[in-house]
Amino acid sequence: MARIKKIPQRICVGCQKARGKKELIRIVRTPDLQVKIDATGKLSGRGAYLCRDLECLTLALAGKRLQRALHVDIPLEVVENLRAGLTQHLPA
Ligand SMILES: [Zn+2]
Repeated sequence: MARIKKIPQRICVGCQKARGKKELIRIVRTPDLQVKIDATGKLSGRGAYLCRDLECLTLALAGKRLQRALHVDIPLEVVENLRAGLTQHLPA
């Protein structure tokens, strides 16, 4: 009997569309309150998911959804880090 595997879906905090986990980037607030991109998906802490799209990052920040999802304020230098990281993760 074949079992159909369900792909885990996560909601992007930017465009708020559900996508497969692998299509999204996980942003994590670590226990020492740093906000960063979790490239491995293994960092502990509160996480939020974002498309590999700068527009979604902008939307998530403008709507304060990323801040709300992570329960933390996101300073400008962290925003810059996320932007740079997101660009690196974009497919070439
Ligand atoms: Zn999105």
